Amino acid sequence: MNLILLGPPGAGKGTQAQRIVERFHIPQISTGDILRAAVKEATVLGKQAKAFMEKGQLVPDDVVIGIIDERLRAPDCQAGFILDGFPRTIPQAEALQVILDRMGKSVDFVINIEVDPEELVRRLTGRRTCKNCGAMFHILFYPPKKEGICDRCDGILYQREDDREEAIRTRLNEYEKQTAPLIQYYRSKNILRPIPGMGDQDQIFEHIVRVLNTKSI
Ligand code: AMP
Repeated sequence: MNLILLGPPGAGKGTQAQRIVERFHIPQISTGDILRAAVKEATVLGKQAKAFMEKGQLVPDDVVIGIIDERLRAPDCQAGFILDGFPRTIPQAEALQVILDRMGKSVDFVINIEVDPEELVRRLTGRRTCKNCGAMFHILFYPPKKEGICDRCDGILYQREDDREEAIRTRLNEYEKQTAPLIQYYRSKNILRPIPGMGDQDQIFEHIVRVLNTKSI
């Protein structure tokens, strides 16, 4: 099964993607995670992406398209994949179509997680990430057992540069301007599936599973 997870920053794409990985055994491909790792390791890619990311701006299309083109060829994508955070612009969506056509593949569903804008700001400003393993917590909704320390690996929790208020505003603007048009793009291809993203994460996941189970085998 080939999936795209769409939705604004803070909609819970990463969380739901993890659950889909566990249930359906297909890899999660998060351009955000790949770029953050590259920044951490200070690779050429990381150096290209760092300034854009810190400000909450999108990294140029050709950079992320290159990442996806390479990643989708890996053997673990044979049985399917979940794209989390890609595509984020119409040119990225068009490039993805060309890449998949070449491989004789197509996207089965675009899961669009819908959350109110005020809720997104609350979620993103409270988010804390483990420096060591990347696990995410929230100071109000999902606090760690020990303040500032990761439950999973005892790593130090920090606030991502792009989870600060100024960058959050930029990210939400970028989403409205560049990414929201993808909703209509995929709706017109009849593969868009809207999922309300407010409330209980288990219920949201079960809703996604019901949608995925409608795929004819
Ligand atoms: P995320 O973790 O998906 O919110 O991504 C974090 C940041 O990585 C974004 O704010 C962008 O700067 C960059 N990024 C991730 N995916 C993309 C993409 N598909 N296109 C452009 N920039 C991206």
